[in-house]
Amino acid sequence: MKERTLERRRRLEEVLRRRQPDLTVLMENVHKPHNLSAILRTCDAVGILQAHAVNPTGGVPTFNETSGGSHKWVYLEVHPTTEAAFRHLRERGFSVYATALKEGARDYREVDYTRPTAIVLGAEKWGVSEEALALADGLIHIPMLGMVQSLNVSVAAAVILFEAQRQRLQAGLYDRPRLDPELYQKILEDWLRK
Ligand code: SAM
Repeated sequence: MKERTLERRRRLEEVLRRRQPDLTVLMENVHKPHNLSAILRTCDAVGILQAHAVNPTGGVPTFNETSGGSHKWVYLEVHPTTEAAFRHLRERGFSVYATALKEGARDYREVDYTRPTAIVLGAEKWGVSEEALALADGLIHIPMLGMVQSLNVSVAAAVILFEAQRQRLQAGLYDRPRLDPELYQKILEDWLRK
């Protein structure tokens, strides 16, 4: 194998060994390509293997240069409805926390992100749907102390996901491969073809 090919394989393996199959986001009607792209870029940076979406961009996800190419490395599963997305995540053991700018939502730093966790992010205009808020295991918010009520959705995603990364680094969850060997091999082969 040529040195450059070997080097690329080593790099892919290094990244894959840090992927966290039990941390994810569910983007509910996040339709602007630059927000979707920026969130996927953050997902890549914290080691998310697969993100989820309900109805992004009206059905077909589109990305732009904001993704920095991260949409190649973070799988995106699109669900037809919020209910279907929750069912999918629950069946795989995730606790699902919805972001909510509401009284009663907990400070996002109080959650234990070392457990299987999915974060629901909402539409730019309307936020997370009432349906998702009702289905969620808990509501979380990032305290806002200024004049403006909310953050841009991709910024909120980054704040929460980097707290998850901090907790997982501390717990040693990036120190050993988290994927089972069969899945690891399958994904490596897929990545090598890209
Ligand atoms: N008017 C909307 C509302 O009341 O939810 C604002 C939506 S905000 C621009 C878009 C998304 O960003 C929210 O649904 C949430 O996912 C995330 N977000 C923004 N600010 C947040 C905060 N302070 N805490 C948690 N999530 C936040």
